[in-house]
Amino acid sequence: MKIALIAHDKKKDDMIALAIKYKDVLSKHELYATGTTGTLVMGETLLKITRMKSGPLGGDQQIGSMVAEGKLDLIIFLRDPLTSQPHEPDVSALLRLCDVQSIPLATNVKSAEIMLRQLEQTGAL
Ligand code: PGA
Repeated sequence: MKIALIAHDKKKDDMIALAIKYKDVLSKHELYATGTTGTLVMGETLLKITRMKSGPLGGDQQIGSMVAEGKLDLIIFLRDPLTSQPHEPDVSALLRLCDVQSIPLATNVKSAEIMLRQLEQTGAL
């Protein structure tokens, strides 16, 4: 499966912890991430990740474009719901496209864990 990882700044530690905890299952899939999230997760886990631009510089839109083209199977997007983002329109567009394409989307750690455990146990979603 093709999985994208995105985390807003205050959620990056959570994303790193999640990636460490589920490194084994993640390593069996093709991973993509926005720029900074990808750099941090790769640095901590040595997982191989294709990095897009940083989110505020267009990375969310690049991930959105992959969703629109049916090139992603799961998005883990740890959003910060308490901080306004300069690229909020890009964030909303990405969430919308996931719903348009019915792509599984986890926006918090507990949802992500449910999906990753399912992937771990069955190899599919
Ligand atoms: P970043 O982008 O991983 O480059 O920080 C995430 C975002 O803010 O959308």
